[in-house]
Amino acid sequence: MKKIECEVCGSQRLVKEAGRFICQACGVEYSLPELQSQIIDSPIERNQRLFKRAKDLFRAREYEAARQLYQRLAERGDLSAEFYEKLCEAHLEPLRKDCRSAILTSFQHSLENLWNRDPDRYFKQASQMLGEIIVFGLTVEEIYEEEFQSKAARLESTSMQTLKKEHEKMQEGAGAAWLLMDQAAHLCAETAGDLSKASSYFWELVDAILDDLSINQKRGTIALGDVQEERKYFAKLKDGAKETEEVN
Ligand SMILES: [Zn+2]
Repeated sequence: MKKIECEVCGSQRLVKEAGRFICQACGVEYSLPELQSQIIDSPIERNQRLFKRAKDLFRAREYEAARQLYQRLAERGDLSAEFYEKLCEAHLEPLRKDCRSAILTSFQHSLENLWNRDPDRYFKQASQMLGEIIVFGLTVEEIYEEEFQSKAARLESTSMQTLKKEHEKMQEGAGAAWLLMDQAAHLCAETAGDLSKASSYFWELVDAILDDLSINQKRGTIALGDVQEERKYFAKLKDGAKETEEVN
């Protein structure tokens, strides 16, 4: 018979406390029906349940527990789980730069797989993932900005040199975070074989990324990037998509 275990970390040390079963290793809680469903669920039901739990943990910003669960799902070959695993890692250490290239690589694998499997559902899932990358990117931008503001408040007016350096550090950090969002949007559009399938939500996300750059450039938070060029690029893709739609 299958052993009852914590589905997040695999530990079998589950202790009942006030009607809930609490994993002594990672702290995740289970109800009795949830534990029972471990035995009676089919593998597909089990997978769906694990994905739902991982998503709930992610939403609750329990990134370490979510990461562990996504990792277990990714080990069974699920590419979107791998993407979310990398995203959790990035949220745990938002300023670590290597996490961002890992996000983009797993995002690309996921996108290719989505497009090959089901082009009609591609933009729904791709936009959801792009939305998560935007949330992460904005978080990082904010961290760099807050860091700069708090340093600027502490520094004396005599240390202009230091202030300038800190300002550049913020521009570089926030700029790299923006670039992650922009590169992700490019991947989304360029992996899709047919942009006429793109939802209005997808284009809204693209606009949000470009507006973010525009605002931050005006405020001096970000120095890199050419808003007009990017707008032109995506507008061209969007127009091309409309034409394809009309022909069809
Ligand atoms: Zn556990």
